[in-house]
Amino acid sequence: MRLSEDHVRLLSRERDLPDEELRAMLETDALDAPLFAEADRVRRENYGDEVYIRGLIEFTNYCKNNCYYCGIRRGNGNAERYRLSKEDILSCCAEGYELGFRTFVLQGGEDPYFTDERVCDIVSAIRRAHPDCAITLSIGEKEKESYQAYFDAGANRYLLRHETASEEHYRLLHPESMSLQHRKDCLFMLKEIGYQVGSGFMVGSPYQTMDNLLADLRFLQALSPDMIGIGPYIPHNETPFAGQPAGSWQLTLRLIAVLRLMFPYALIPSTTALGTIHPLGRELGLKAGANVVMPNLSPVSVRKLYDLYENKICTGEEAAQCRGCLEARVASAGYRVVTAVGNVRR
Ligand code: SAH
Repeated sequence: MRLSEDHVRLLSRERDLPDEELRAMLETDALDAPLFAEADRVRRENYGDEVYIRGLIEFTNYCKNNCYYCGIRRGNGNAERYRLSKEDILSCCAEGYELGFRTFVLQGGEDPYFTDERVCDIVSAIRRAHPDCAITLSIGEKEKESYQAYFDAGANRYLLRHETASEEHYRLLHPESMSLQHRKDCLFMLKEIGYQVGSGFMVGSPYQTMDNLLADLRFLQALSPDMIGIGPYIPHNETPFAGQPAGSWQLTLRLIAVLRLMFPYALIPSTTALGTIHPLGRELGLKAGANVVMPNLSPVSVRKLYDLYENKICTGEEAAQCRGCLEARVASAGYRVVTAVGNVRR
């Protein structure tokens, strides 16, 4: 199929395209210039030059799951495991608050030590200390009662990438004990409870096809999340996928732009993984339509241990340095970091 700039305009106007046109747009670099320009126009129409910052606190790398792509999978016996205490987490938030952060993202493996009771205790302590902040959890698949309890304790956002929306592809990335249906059910439960929900997928994960990516876009249309996080797959040596090629930054950028046009109001982070496979990846992501960055607030002593994939950037700096570096990078791309909670628009 031959595409023209008309298809970019059509995608922008309809917020959608038929599968064949979408596929053709993702398979060529011929339309990148008009596609990225239109994505930037739409992001500026809705968000101006604002870029929201979210402080990421990676509070545990213990995980009961065994996803084939992930460096902190249970089966990685060479991972050095750590957990932050409640006090550690609270001091990360206090430091972040001083630096202007108004959203804290608590991310971790699925660590059974953090029972619902412990999670609620931590969330309510952050809520008391920072009543003006958003609290985001990213701790995987739970039961509805657990999600409800965290929400009642004061959490208001949840990040759970669906990873891949196709059953066959999901099976190639995860052991039998895990289920795509449950992950999807979790996302709809979170929405029903009232969370602002973020989902997303890896680009170029092993065995991924263009059909899989189209299924990811269609699933996101059905879910209609507030945030959409995508990043390139990056191999990790201590996983069954060691030696697999990384995803491409070009395709990641193209998908960011397509997502911006399909979901004009979405919060779309320019991810650390994108910054890891290309030195200016995050700047390019912003220029292709992304409007969020997530600097690391974890203590430097544990940064290297939250080792999802190889050569992860930003594992050496203090939180304040991260904040400063990101701010300069955002400015160099032509945007402006704002320290507001950055509430979703729909
Ligand atoms: N346990 C939580 C958090 C997972 S880590 C959960 O299940 O949601 C956050 C994200 O990192 C994952 O959702 C996955 O998309 C991404 N990730 C994991 N391994 C990766 C790899 N090797 N390359 C790129 N991204 C990866």
